[in-house]
Amino acid sequence: MTQAYNVSPIGFMRSCFKEKFAIPRQPQLAPAARGVLELVAPFDQGDAVQGLEQVSHVWLLFLFHQALEDKPRLKVRPPRLGGNQSMGVFATRATHRPNGIGQSVVKLDKVEAGRLWLSGIDLLDGTPVLDVKPYVPYADVIVDARNSMAAAAPAMIPVQWADAALAQAREHAMRLEEPLIELIEQCLAQDPRPAYQTPTPERRYGAQFWDLDVRWHYPQPGVIWVLEVVPAAVS
Ligand code: SAM
Repeated sequence: MTQAYNVSPIGFMRSCFKEKFAIPRQPQLAPAARGVLELVAPFDQGDAVQGLEQVSHVWLLFLFHQALEDKPRLKVRPPRLGGNQSMGVFATRATHRPNGIGQSVVKLDKVEAGRLWLSGIDLLDGTPVLDVKPYVPYADVIVDARNSMAAAAPAMIPVQWADAALAQAREHAMRLEEPLIELIEQCLAQDPRPAYQTPTPERRYGAQFWDLDVRWHYPQPGVIWVLEVVPAAVS
């Protein structure tokens, strides 16, 4: 019988992303996506992070806690391929995978005892984090690396604002002390809509960033228009 191992979180992510929809597909795609890794005991002491201030980026190993499944899949349909082509699970970064483990290189902005301030994240709020490791450029940068299936970052589409939505976003950015306009633009420019959907101008889309509901539509194919940025309904 295969040996099973237990792992337990060293902390939990407090993230700008409150739902899976509209989170970038990889880290670094939205530099304005920020969050704090709250370490739990015994790792919430200065000793555990001593020396980390010498490091600009870290690897996070975490659990896709909102995509865990009992039955392992061998093939998945990555959104990157339009969701209609299946691939071996080990050829993709799909969230549905054996052991549900994700990995992301993120920017380390500030270190405190018990807290790491991070940006460029692609983790949902509440994500259990299993480990943190320093990014080591001489070993982790592979200049001649190749991935023909995901050769470049997703194409960007223009994001435009209704005047009222931009005013709302400015006000909430000041309140939150966060680069909210950049966050919304960077995430929506990657066009979170499933590739198989052709949106009509009437159709409204929405996602929660921080404590805000952001709503948008597609006035024409390939253009996003932000309609409003309003306090999220309390669930
Ligand atoms: N960079 C990681 C990796 O390669 O393992 C994640 C890649 S995965 C394709 C990115 C997606 O994971 C995001 O778009 C988001 O919707 C989803 N995600 C992030 N945190 C999650 C969580 N805790 N549970 C389930 N899905 C999550």
